Amino acid sequence: MEEKCTCEPNEILVFACSGSSNVGQIANLAALQLTQKGAGRMFCLAGIGGHVSGMIESTKAGKMIVGIDGCPVACAKKILEHAGFNVDEYLQVTEMGVEKNHGFHYPQPEIDKVVDRLNTRISQRRGA
Ligand code: SF4
Repeated sequence: MEEKCTCEPNEILVFACSGSSNVGQIANLAALQLTQKGAGRMFCLAGIGGHVSGMIESTKAGKMIVGIDGCPVACAKKILEHAGFNVDEYLQVTEMGVEKNHGFHYPQPEIDKVVDRLNTRISQRRGA
């Protein structure tokens, strides 16, 4: 049986690929909105990619890592794994039926779907 996390929202670190496409920006905005809802705390993926020591240490101190990628290229997951972190909860925006494009059109309902799905999964993992 999966163990419940006793973590507080500020110990739940949310990393988005923030890629240069509609789905990358949906990932980015979903991470931001999860933070605004108090479900977790958005963290800087670029700092992990850059091996910035303070950010690596802060990430080690987190209790749950949430990754959001726009598409199956999975840049956020790969960056985190290269730095030695396991991703506890993970979602690709394209899994939610959103087709990738470079037009940067992202209706709010597409962002809401990603936020709701991850919010539910984080709550289940916390037993909340
Ligand atoms: S996961 Fe996809 S959308 Fe995100 S940065 Fe990589 S290629 Fe771009």
